[in-house]
Amino acid sequence: MIRTTALSKVYRSRERQVTALDDVDLHVREGEIFGVLGRSGAGKSTLIRCVNLLERPTSGTVEVGGRDLTAMSAGRLRAERRGIGMIFQHFNLLSSRDVAGNVAVPLEIAGVSRQARARRVAELLDLVGLSEHAKAYPAQLSGGQKQRVGIARALAAEPRVLLSDEATSALDPETTRSILALLRDLRDRLGLTILLITHEMDVVKGICDSAALMEGGRIVESGTVSELLSRPRSRLAREMFPLGTPGVLEGRTVIDITFRGEETARPFISTLARTYNVDVNVLGAAVESVGGKQIGRMRISLDGAFENNVVPIGYLREQGLQVDLVEEAAAAAAESDTDAAEAGVALVGKEI
Ligand code: ADP
Ligand code: MG
Repeated sequence: MIRTTALSKVYRSRERQVTALDDVDLHVREGEIFGVLGRSGAGKSTLIRCVNLLERPTSGTVEVGGRDLTAMSAGRLRAERRGIGMIFQHFNLLSSRDVAGNVAVPLEIAGVSRQARARRVAELLDLVGLSEHAKAYPAQLSGGQKQRVGIARALAAEPRVLLSDEATSALDPETTRSILALLRDLRDRLGLTILLITHEMDVVKGICDSAALMEGGRIVESGTVSELLSRPRSRLAREMFPLGTPGVLEGRTVIDITFRGEETARPFISTLARTYNVDVNVLGAAVESVGGKQIGRMRISLDGAFENNVVPIGYLREQGLQVDLVEEAAAAAAESDTDAAEAGVALVGKEI
């Protein structure tokens, strides 16, 4: 539904030049919720603004629904943009208009008749659970309610794509959860494709089917969340499961076990200890709900070197569990990126 190819954006001023996007290839499938995660200044907002061409890329192409927006005339682009809704961190509501009046703005711009407008606004307010508040003004609403108005307004023209730039960043955790649940519900009911930008891992964990990690204007990792979790060296996966425990222990083999769904309940650790008479030490574990599915990761150590533990590790793999030797992954990460291990621990729950 969304595809960027070799997308670059360079901001030039007299004093300096900033490469905000550097050769970004992004691919968002129809109907998926795709999260872009990164620290402040990584280029996330620039990316999302290039997707609807609020920002003109320096080079590269942007296709939405198979049509190349970068090749369109201004008039054609305006029409095409109606199919792309957008929501913002600070809601961008008109304080002088009530809720219904705010939601009606895009319909007025599109020249929809007063009667049809009233009907559509009522539908939209129902969709976001704000029917009772049609006559309220933004100043009378909570943050979560304001964002619901923003969502209703973004959906007014029946877009197929919704872009969200930090839409929950100004909200408390509970309100964040309710807005994320609403977005997922809207995706399911309307078949929307949602590209959302966030600096919070919890948002990605909460609703994303796929995710990308951005750094310095580049996408350094991307894939479906379940695919990322299967990559032993994935930084996103490590950030999702911050086990925060040593990766190397003298005289022991440290492994990470990744498991999903029904496996979470299976007592494989006790079976392992009993059947192979090995001394198992649990170093850390986390079970998370990722995209509505339970996924867990556990770090354990076994007595002796890897060679001595081939049989128990084989047993775990036979159970369908993903087993990764931590030492190798950590060493490889350290080689490719010295900050990676630290980042994996530091990123969680913080502005990154
Ligand atoms: P994020 O949303 O991830 O915090 P941005 O896309 O806002 O990052 O910014 C990426 C980089 O581009 C930053 O270094 C920022 O200072 C720079 N930048 C963003 N917008 C502009 C602009 N209009 N003019 C100059 N530099 C900009
Ligand atoms: Mg931003």
